Amino acid sequence: MSDELLAASSPEAGIAFVTGITTTLVREAQSRHALAPTATAAVGRLITATALLGTALKGSERISLQISGDGLIGGLSAEAWLLDGGVAARARARNPLADLPLNARGKFDVAGVVGSGSMQVTKSYDIGQPYVGVVPLFSGEIAEDVASYLAQSEQIPSIVALGVLANPEGVAAAGGIMAQVLPGADEAAIAELERRAMALPPVTQLIAGGATAEDLMHAIAGDLKLRAHRIMPVHFDCLCNREKVEIALLGLGADELRHMAKENPQSEAACEFCKKRYEFAAAELEALASKFDA
Ligand code: ZN
Repeated sequence: MSDELLAASSPEAGIAFVTGITTTLVREAQSRHALAPTATAAVGRLITATALLGTALKGSERISLQISGDGLIGGLSAEAWLLDGGVAARARARNPLADLPLNARGKFDVAGVVGSGSMQVTKSYDIGQPYVGVVPLFSGEIAEDVASYLAQSEQIPSIVALGVLANPEGVAAAGGIMAQVLPGADEAAIAELERRAMALPPVTQLIAGGATAEDLMHAIAGDLKLRAHRIMPVHFDCLCNREKVEIALLGLGADELRHMAKENPQSEAACEFCKKRYEFAAAELEALASKFDA
C-alpha cells in the first residue's frame, strides 16, 4: 500500500477525521538517519502525527512538532508543509541510535527514550507571527502527547492513534488515525467515537494487514456520512539549501572554521534533517570565517 493521507469530516456529528499510511515516509526517515528500532518508532510516530496535522495547512504554512525530553533520544522534531498538492515532511532526532528493550507490554519503549519534558508546536503562516503552543509531555508515547496538546492548547478534544511496526530489517508498517471533536459536536456521536476508538485494533496491525487510509477512516468513523473527502500523497522531503548550511556552519565560530580549513582541503557538512551532504573547500570555509572579522 503506497503512502497517502485522507482527511474528511462529519458536519452532523461535528467530528473531523484524518487517517494516513506513512510506511514509506517512516522508512525514508529511518534510512536517512540510520535510526535504531526504538528511535524509529519515536521519530516515525512524530513524523506521522505531523503529516496528519499537515493536511489542514494552506498555502505556504508550515507546522512543526518539537519534543524536548530528558531520555536517551535527547529530543526530536518533525515538520510538514504542502508541496505539489500533497504533504511533505521531514524529521530528525538528536540521538538516532537511542534504543531500549521492549517494554512490559512487548512494545517499543518510546516513552523510555523520550523521557519527560515538553512538546512545542509551531505553526507558521503566510503572514503574521507564528503560533507557538507548548505543553508538558503527557506520557512520552507521542500519540497521547499530541492529543494532550490539541486538547490543552487548541481546545480540541482529540483521539490520536499512531503506529510504527519496525524490526532490525526496517519498517514494515506505519500510519495513524486522528479524530478531532469540533465545538458543538453531537454528544451521542462523541460517545460512539469513543466506543469505536476503544475497540480499534492497533493501527500497525490494520496496516500490516493491508488496510488503506480509506479502511482506517471506516474503522474510526464507522457509518458517519463524511464530507470534504481529500486524499493527499505524502512523502519525505527537505527545505535545506547551501545557504542554510552556511548559516549552521557560522554557528561553529571563526576559530573552528579556520581549523577545519587548515586540516582539510575539502570539508563536508550534512543537513541535520535529510542528511544531504554539502561540500566546502578550505577557501570557502576561510571566507565564512572572515565574516567574523567585520
Ligand atoms: Zn536537508
